[in-house]
Amino acid sequence: MSTAPSRPIVVSGPSGTGKSTLLKKLFAEYPDKFGFSVSHTTRKPRPGEVDGKDYYFTTVSMFQKLIQQNAFVEHAQFSGNFYGTSIQAIKEVAEVMKRTCILDIDMQGVKSVKKTDLNARFLFIAPPSVEDLKKRLTGRGTETPESLQKRLDAATAELEYAKTGAHDRVIVNDDLEKAYKELKEFIFEEAKK
Ligand code: ADP
Ligand code: 5GP
Repeated sequence: MSTAPSRPIVVSGPSGTGKSTLLKKLFAEYPDKFGFSVSHTTRKPRPGEVDGKDYYFTTVSMFQKLIQQNAFVEHAQFSGNFYGTSIQAIKEVAEVMKRTCILDIDMQGVKSVKKTDLNARFLFIAPPSVEDLKKRLTGRGTETPESLQKRLDAATAELEYAKTGAHDRVIVNDDLEKAYKELKEFIFEEAKK
């Protein structure tokens, strides 16, 4: 497990399934191999989130300006906020840092990226159950009752989409260490070919 894969990796899955937790472990273990595609969002930062690292936090008017300027590879509305992957965010990782680019995006983003020439690999992180997902989202303490419900509604659609076989691999994040091991296996698989 040493060579960094060249194709971008798109990680998706319901909100609260553990994508950020798994990716933070990956970036901590391999600080020089991977680069996170920092998305733009109009949602408010959570405690501990850093502008320019977790997201570029922006306003709706700025986001709309960027759409008009064709700055995004893909963009979508999720749970009442805008999210988008800029061309610049991917360039920064692939061309400036020269690292494997990792994207964390929703199913609308997955569908859009599939239509581009990014030649990405798609990994879906599933929760053990919707009940567990609800517990994790509640336990994270970041959601209001309304946003919790919106995220659970979106989760149902994400899980249905995963059943269509749209992803290259599905990992169930029940035990974190087990899921992390499987994530690494998937990620480094390409580099071995
Ligand atoms: P996402 O990025 O997919 O929205 P997070 O990484 O923020 O999800 O995880 C949501 C919550 O679930 C966090 O509080 C995190 O600590 C917790 N969590 C992540 N993985 C597991 C796991 N395998 N078992 C139990 N809790 C987990
Ligand atoms: P959160 O608000 O929990 O950080 O993210 C909510 C959802 O938006 C998650 O499913 C996450 O993967 C997705 N997301 C984050 N950035 C982007 C992006 O740039 N584009 C798209 N389409 N979805 C994104």
